Amino acid sequence: METDFLLIGQGLAGTALGYRLKKSGFRIQIYDQAESNQSSRVAAGLFNPVTGRKMVKTWNADQIFPEIIPFYKELENLCEEKFLHQQSIYRPFISIEEQNEWMGNSADDSFSDYLEEIVQESQSEFLNDPFGGVKLKNCGWLDIVTMLDGMRKFFGEDLKKEWLNLEKLKFEDEFWNYEGLKAKNLIFCNGVAAHQSSYFDFLPFAPVKGEILEVKQDFSPDYIVNRGVFRVHLGDSVHRVGSTYTWHDLDHGPTERAKNELTERLAGLVNQPIEAYVSHKVGIRPATKDRKPFLGKHPDKQNVYIFDGFGAKGVSLIPYYSKIMVQYLVESTSIPQEVDIARYFNYI
Ligand SMILES: Cc1cc2nc3c(=O)[nH]c(=O)nc-3n(C[C@H](O)[C@H](O)[C@H](O)COP(=O)(O)OP(=O)(O)OC[C@H]3O[C@@H](n4cnc5c(N)ncnc54)[C@H](O)[C@@H]3O)c2cc1C
Repeated sequence: METDFLLIGQGLAGTALGYRLKKSGFRIQIYDQAESNQSSRVAAGLFNPVTGRKMVKTWNADQIFPEIIPFYKELENLCEEKFLHQQSIYRPFISIEEQNEWMGNSADDSFSDYLEEIVQESQSEFLNDPFGGVKLKNCGWLDIVTMLDGMRKFFGEDLKKEWLNLEKLKFEDEFWNYEGLKAKNLIFCNGVAAHQSSYFDFLPFAPVKGEILEVKQDFSPDYIVNRGVFRVHLGDSVHRVGSTYTWHDLDHGPTERAKNELTERLAGLVNQPIEAYVSHKVGIRPATKDRKPFLGKHPDKQNVYIFDGFGAKGVSLIPYYSKIMVQYLVESTSIPQEVDIARYFNYI
């Protein structure tokens, strides 16, 4: 059997890239074993244009945000399932000074696409927001598991739910051969596993472990709350609460320390006891040292590519960068320097 593109991994990255290649008329074959460390199946799925302690626009927001809603809506139509939840994010102020600062930001045109409202008084007795807060728009969350499962059905025979053994890959007669399959091109979309492979171990990945809880609490507004910790309502008073960031201890086990940390942070945000803990999950984010994704072509190996390194922001980055990657593969357009892996070729 012959294919144009053999993709390793069907997390968010492999799904988006595989879909766009298929849509462009190419034959694809994806291998994916959704093992426990898959980042996409653990993630909260938030997309948020204004982030960080200092609340600045996220990197490249004006380019990447216009792609998010249309892309996931297109996949929803394809799968006939709902997984895109557009919701505002409410971030309480911690002081009157911060409230004033945001009143100033509201006059700044560059925030107008993302700023819904400055609220000057508490939104609820169940929230710790005595100074009000800022409501952001163009935000929400993606139910990634539903999306990935829907896309598994869409890919059908184009997806093998198996581990691809890299040792068995052989480049012969201009094709990558794998157990009888002949592929013209090979693309690594395999998250942190790319870092452990001899193909891309030279790239400076900086994997980050994250832990996340699901808890029951009655207070269920129609917005996401986010300050120190985020809380997203999934339905039936179950909320996703996260996440932690750890650069060491990258085993996959959940820890009591992270559970306590998230519980304490939640108590600082929502004035209501947790009724029950529903789940506690762990994943490893495929983050990179310079916090920019890895796109491009292997420097020596023929027709080998990578689409990876989306760190903590895969949901917002992948719709835009999968488009860039497909244009590069199909029309030979260039990849923006800041995400092209060629930025590291001098260090090999
Ligand atoms: C706790 C936590 C919270 C997060 N919250 C958010 C959030 O709110 N918003 C956001 O945008 N991002 C969030 N992220 C980050 C997000 O999960 C990632 O950016 C994104 O999912 C990465 O997708 P990926 O496809 O590159 O990697 P992955 O999801 O890891 O997918 C890689 C896939 O490749 C498979 N694979 C690897 N090697 C092989 C092989 N040899 N053969 C077959 N299959 C293979 C793996 O099993 C896996 O299925 C969070 C992550 C964590 C851990």
